[in-house]
Amino acid sequence: MISCKKAGVLIEKKLAHKLNTVEGMELFFHTIVCKACRNYEAQSAFIEKALTREKNTDKHKPSSDLKEKIHKSLEEPK
Ligand SMILES: [Zn+2]
Repeated sequence: MISCKKAGVLIEKKLAHKLNTVEGMELFFHTIVCKACRNYEAQSAFIEKALTREKNTDKHKPSSDLKEKIHKSLEEPK
């Protein structure tokens, strides 16, 4: 079993998409038994997601709101 310290390192690697299969398995089995690291992983993933979304706000991507409007206008007969 890997230590919590190593699990922390692997969680960071996972968020950077640099985890290999063996490391992924090690982290997976650690987080099954270790609640602290499971929480840490969930928190880190949440923060990472929030930061990524922040970075992407300036990109030209149709929002789900806009998509819905388009769908509605297509469905409604004129
Ligand atoms: Zn742990």
